[in-house]
Amino acid sequence: MQIVDYDQQVDALSAKSYVDQVFETVKKRNPHEPEFLQAVKEIFDSLVPVFEKHPIYKQQGILERIVEPDRIISFRVPWVDDSGKVQVNRGFRVQFSSAIGPYKGGLRFHPSVNASIIKFLGFEQIFKNSLTGQPIGGGKGGADFDPKGKSDGEIMRFCQSFMTELYRHIGPDLDVPAGDIGVGGREIGYLFGMYKRIRGSFEAGVLTGKGIGYGGSLTRTEATGYGTVYFVNEMLEAKGLTFENSRVVVSGSGNVSIYAMEKAAQFGGKVIACSDSNGYIVDENGINLETVKRIKEVERKRISEYVLHHPEAQYIEGCSGIWTVPCDIALPCATQNEIDEAAAKLLVTNGVKAIGEGANMPSTLEAIDVFLENEVLFGPGKAANAGGVAVSALEMAQNSARLAWTFEEVDQKLHSIMTNIYQTSMKAAEEYGCPGNLVVGANIAGFLKVADAMVAHGII
Ligand code: GLU
Repeated sequence: MQIVDYDQQVDALSAKSYVDQVFETVKKRNPHEPEFLQAVKEIFDSLVPVFEKHPIYKQQGILERIVEPDRIISFRVPWVDDSGKVQVNRGFRVQFSSAIGPYKGGLRFHPSVNASIIKFLGFEQIFKNSLTGQPIGGGKGGADFDPKGKSDGEIMRFCQSFMTELYRHIGPDLDVPAGDIGVGGREIGYLFGMYKRIRGSFEAGVLTGKGIGYGGSLTRTEATGYGTVYFVNEMLEAKGLTFENSRVVVSGSGNVSIYAMEKAAQFGGKVIACSDSNGYIVDENGINLETVKRIKEVERKRISEYVLHHPEAQYIEGCSGIWTVPCDIALPCATQNEIDEAAAKLLVTNGVKAIGEGANMPSTLEAIDVFLENEVLFGPGKAANAGGVAVSALEMAQNSARLAWTFEEVDQKLHSIMTNIYQTSMKAAEEYGCPGNLVVGANIAGFLKVADAMVAHGII
């Protein structure tokens, strides 16, 4: 039987060369997808000790199967702009893994969106979602649509057109999208409205991140940022450190960043810098969050506006410069690969003690190595930013039960989920021979649960 031959073939290889061999195939099969390959490489390298210990996962072809999405849907999104011109964007949904629950993951609307970006995000989501301890599989979607400068009517028409195709692929027990970059409460509202109209029924659990008045969960808006800070707090406490009187730099000024800044300040940290894609602000008095919230959430303007309200603060063009600002704690909450090797080295030289990734894959592989080699506490995105999707799962639970928990109830559940992710990841790192390495720990802990479910389900 072919399966037996294959078993013998892989057993003859060391775990390392087996993992490398599978990675070579992934590279060959996805030659133009650098972000996807980067995400796969990071996970694969972490999993070598797992394959040494459990040959069953080799025999069952778990690696070969987990890197191939269940399906990728790509579709045309036509819409009419305010001047009457027809515009066409490309929409995606990648349904990566449903081994432990319905596909779950956000939608990203950003001009950089392509198959590689959506696949890296969907792949990471499998392990992140598993780590939350909630019953959710991995998926992701989006479009190469740029919401910047679009009118409210244009956003609505785009969301409606996007949903007229997406609706046939999603459902409360099938695939549950949510927000990501460029998709917040307003967009989820338009998407939900169109889904409800097409389906002719109120299926609250089909999307998360909904408004509180129609099935959303309290604390969902704050969850990713708060969760990142809860996670970093665990890392600090284990070393006898705290946020108290620390200098905190948070990149981005979207939803994740805003609530990371809020919680870091509540924990006694002084947040001195944040950014958007044009530049960054430094306010040595501590960033005034009310101003940032008004500029970003209400007026939807650029962060440069901040200095008009706080003349003592500085605005500097070019967002990557934010990592030159000396800090104790850095929370990259903007986008992928925003910290490269040079930025990481600069952070280390300037005395950074802890990094918490609020964004997905904000550090390059080289940057991660710099942090680990220099014993900087490093909370990888899959663990540190899992609070958002964790509360999405709590939103699904509330929708199924047709009830609503209080802010405090959800916040307390979020806090214990983040503590649990920290402990589970630390334990896995220890057990598999890399004590204190949360990259390895989070990847292994996330992987094991999914792999066991895949073994239980047979070769599918
Ligand atoms: N986009 C978020 C993430 O990267 C949240 C996904 C969700 O709530 O489904 O995890």
